[in-house]
Amino acid sequence: MDFSLTPEQESFQKQVRQFIHEHLTPELRAEVEREQYAIGPLGKQFVRLMGQQGWLGIGWPREYGGQGRGAIDQWLFLEEMALENLPTGGLTLNSAGPTLMRVGSERQKQEYLPRILTGEIEFAIGYTEPNAGSDLASLQTRAVREGDSYVINGQKIYTSAAHHSTHIWLLARTDPKAAKHRGLSIFIVPIDAPGVTVRPLATMGSERSNEVFFEDVRIPAGNLVGEENRGWYYVTMALDFERLMAHNRTRRYLEHLMDYARSTVVDGCPLSRHPRVRIALARLAVEVEVLRLFSLRSAWMIECGQVPNVEASVFKIFMSELNQRIAVAAQDIMGPYATLRAEDPAAPIEGRLEKLYRSFPLYKFAGGTNEVMRNIIAQRGLGMPRG
Ligand SMILES: Cc1cc2nc3c(=O)[nH]c(=O)nc-3n(C[C@H](O)[C@H](O)[C@H](O)COP(=O)(O)OP(=O)(O)OC[C@H]3O[C@@H](n4cnc5c(N)ncnc54)[C@H](O)[C@@H]3O)c2cc1C
Repeated sequence: MDFSLTPEQESFQKQVRQFIHEHLTPELRAEVEREQYAIGPLGKQFVRLMGQQGWLGIGWPREYGGQGRGAIDQWLFLEEMALENLPTGGLTLNSAGPTLMRVGSERQKQEYLPRILTGEIEFAIGYTEPNAGSDLASLQTRAVREGDSYVINGQKIYTSAAHHSTHIWLLARTDPKAAKHRGLSIFIVPIDAPGVTVRPLATMGSERSNEVFFEDVRIPAGNLVGEENRGWYYVTMALDFERLMAHNRTRRYLEHLMDYARSTVVDGCPLSRHPRVRIALARLAVEVEVLRLFSLRSAWMIECGQVPNVEASVFKIFMSELNQRIAVAAQDIMGPYATLRAEDPAAPIEGRLEKLYRSFPLYKFAGGTNEVMRNIIAQRGLGMPRG
């Protein structure tokens, strides 16, 4: 098996590196260290700059203003960005946008797609509710047709990017009498529509999430995406576009830990000479390579026109649990210093691994829990009956 890049891919990778080198300021670096799922003001500027220079549309078809590049190029781009923890346009570009291309009306395509590519429009994803997470189809938020409008009432939770987005990509119930998967529809709701309230929700990893409340929110009927009551099908389609994943964020955590081991001397002996530390790091390094192969496999499948499904679940479980193993190893290797937060001048590696320790449980939930992923593997991968 030959994993080497073609000369064109290498040259593209160099261009991405050059772009990052030119635009990654110390201030932006500090901001992206603070935020994990959210984008701060500098991150937003960076996304817009990428938009102006055509970097947001790498994988989008040319007819919608993209570069029409293949999945391996997109993967290379994501990997370079992940290595620096930089934002890449997230689910607006990689999930909602491609779904709009396929099922949106002509007006929606003209109104939203070009402005997504310039970074002007950003969607927060409004699926989860307080009583509908893994069992998403039980959601209760209602959208009722009244003349040329829909009136929306309900609540969403963990709406990650709502505080810096322009719109919500909302899944709501339009037919309460239909079977629960069948009565759902997707809407585009401007975040500043009267009746929308975004409230901060603190997470243990210090990242901000949100609750979003909808009280008699009236939107034009033209903001319905595709056909009424086909929302479940569109959500499944949107999830299929999310299957390209980078592994470099995890590699970066391990590199931080290796830097610490190389630069720290305990009782006159560098930690990097300590057998227990070396074995722990080598073990994690093997696993990071495995993660890279899982992520490259998904990219390659997409390049070949396949949809990684079980493979995406395998990657997600392995990535989130490897983040946990790195965070736990950091506690072991750094001792009490591992608990110091970024604000403390004595915190090793600017508190990044301390933060990872508080954030790793989130990775096991975001994008579907690991238990649900294991059910998918058992059912679709191993051919077992529905659990
Ligand atoms: C960091 C982060 C960002 C997120 N961003 C967004 C976002 O932007 N938009 C959005 O809509 N949502 C978002 N979510 C929500 C996420 O999709 C849900 O947390 C996830 O789907 C799980 O739902 P839940 O939290 O209600 O947990 P539940 O579904 O209540 O699960 C609780 C526990 O029960 C287990 N469980 C549930 N059902 C089964 C089953 N059938 N078999 C075995 N075990 C089961 C779960 O694995 C879990 O351990 C985000 C979550 C996190 C942590």
